[in-house]
Amino acid sequence: VKAALFHGKQDIRIEDVDVLEPGVGEVRLRNAYNGICGSDLHFYDTPETSGVDFSKPHPVTGRTLPQILGHEFSGTVDAVGAGVDTVKVGDRVSVFPMISCGICSACARGQVNVCRVVSSYGTSSASGGLAEFSVVRVKDVHVLPDSVDLKLGALVEPMAVAWHAVRRSGIEAGQHALVVGGGPIGIGIAFALRARGVTDVTISEISPDRLAVLRTMGIATVVDPAAADLGDHLREATGQRGVDVAFDTAGGATGLTTALAHLTPGGCAVELAIDVTPREIVPIHLVLNELRVLGTLAYLPSDFDAVIAAMADGAYNTAAWVDVLTLDQIVPAIDDLRAARRTKVLIRT
Ligand SMILES: [Zn+2]
Ligand SMILES: [Zn+2]
Repeated sequence: VKAALFHGKQDIRIEDVDVLEPGVGEVRLRNAYNGICGSDLHFYDTPETSGVDFSKPHPVTGRTLPQILGHEFSGTVDAVGAGVDTVKVGDRVSVFPMISCGICSACARGQVNVCRVVSSYGTSSASGGLAEFSVVRVKDVHVLPDSVDLKLGALVEPMAVAWHAVRRSGIEAGQHALVVGGGPIGIGIAFALRARGVTDVTISEISPDRLAVLRTMGIATVVDPAAADLGDHLREATGQRGVDVAFDTAGGATGLTTALAHLTPGGCAVELAIDVTPREIVPIHLVLNELRVLGTLAYLPSDFDAVIAAMADGAYNTAAWVDVLTLDQIVPAIDDLRAARRTKVLIRT
C-alpha cells in the first residue's frame, strides 16, 4: 500500500509499504485524511533544527529514517488486535499522535505533552498518517461522533494545539484577545475562543492570501499591520485598556514583542511559535504591568475530547481555509504552504 516516506532533507517519496497487523492493544486504521503542518515543513526543509533528531534512532522507539510522515490524522478502524474492547471495526476516529514515556519528570507531573523523550506517529513510529493504513495503540484513538466528519477528525490535532493554549491562558468570556498570525493555529485559537464565549478577537496577519481567507471567515476582526495601525485599532476596540490575552502564533523577530505591547495591566502573552529567533524583552515593562508570559506546547488527551465535543456542537468548519489534495501532491502542497498560498492542506489518503 502507498505511503509518503521521509528519507531526509527535501526528500519525500511515495512508496509501497507492507500493511501491518495490529498487536495486543492496537488497532489498524484505514487512514482517511492527514493534515500537513508547520512541523512537517520544518522536517522537510531544515530537519536539523526541527526539534526532532532524525540523525539517529529514537531513544525509545528505535525508529530511524525513512519515516512515514503525518501526525494529524483520522481514519476508520479496519482491524483490532487482541484485548481491544473499547472500539470496533467501522468506528471513525481521530488519533492522538504523541507517545510519551510515562516515567520522566514531565510525565510524572502529568505534563505528557512536554515529555523529555516523546515520540510520535509520523516522526518516530512504524506508522504515520500519510499512508493508506496505520497501526496505533487503542488508547490513542478518540472516537468521532456521527456529527463530526473525517475531515474535521484530521483537524482535531491542530485545533487541540490552539484549544490547549486558550485553556492555559485562563481567558474568560467578555475579555478581549489578540492573535498574532492568522495561519491554521491562529484560526484554531479564534474558533476555540468563540466556543468558550470570547467574541472580541482581533487577528493580525500580513500575508495577502491569508488576509483574504480570514476576511471571509467571520471569526475575528482582521488587521493587516502593514496597512493599519494595530495599536490604534486595539485601543479603540478595548476602550483604551489593551487586550487581556495576546497569542503569538507567528514567531519571528516581532511576534512575542507585538503580543506583549498590546496587553492590559495583568494581561497574559501566550507563546506558541516553534521558533528560535531571540527577541528583546524589557523587564520593567513586565514588572510595571504585572504581565504573564506563558509558553504552551501541543495538547493533552482532554484537549482532544474538548475539541471533538466543540466540533459536535458546530463550533468549527472547514470552509475557506482547508484544501483537500492527494498523496502524490504532498511536495507541491508543501511549496504552497511555505509561500502561504494555502492555509491548510489535508491529504486524502
Ligand atoms: Zn502538526
Ligand atoms: Zn516522559
